[in-house]
Amino acid sequence: MRIIPFTLLLFMAPMMPTTGEAAANHAHQHGVAQMELIKLDRDLQITFLVTAADLVGFEHQAQSLQQQQRIEQAEMLLAEGGKVFSITGGECTQISQQSNLHQLHNDTGAAAKQNEHQHTDLTVSYQFKCTNLTTQMSVEVRLFALFSALQKIETSWITDTTQSSATLTATTNRLQIE
Ligand SMILES: [Zn+2]
Repeated sequence: MRIIPFTLLLFMAPMMPTTGEAAANHAHQHGVAQMELIKLDRDLQITFLVTAADLVGFEHQAQSLQQQQRIEQAEMLLAEGGKVFSITGGECTQISQQSNLHQLHNDTGAAAKQNEHQHTDLTVSYQFKCTNLTTQMSVEVRLFALFSALQKIETSWITDTTQSSATLTATTNRLQIE
């Protein structure tokens, strides 16, 4: 049996990023989100990292009914990938969605931990299955219309054949994916 040298494992580790590591490296900047699209064969995954301030207007646990409702509203807006993204070509259907907005809920009923200087990053990700691999795909990102605090989204994408990046804004919100 061949033993892989430990140093090689160390070298390989940064090449296998997880969402958690990406979140840790995310420069917390209000108004600026980061998004990653991975399209391999029939699978399309879209993940974005955004500050809680941009989605709900605060970054601590909800302290009032009004704030609870803002979280629920954001969760509702983000639940359907088909409303967050308008995907043309590919015939893609959402198969799952995850987000960690729930951490903003104050479920215990106890007084929320108070920290006015707290900052919170949120991650939202979508998995789609695409049945048409022959057409070119474009993705219109509607987050700017849904969350007006967002000013730009630094986006990168990877497909079977290409990788690229772009900065999206409210007026330039469409990605052409090879
Ligand atoms: Zn913040």
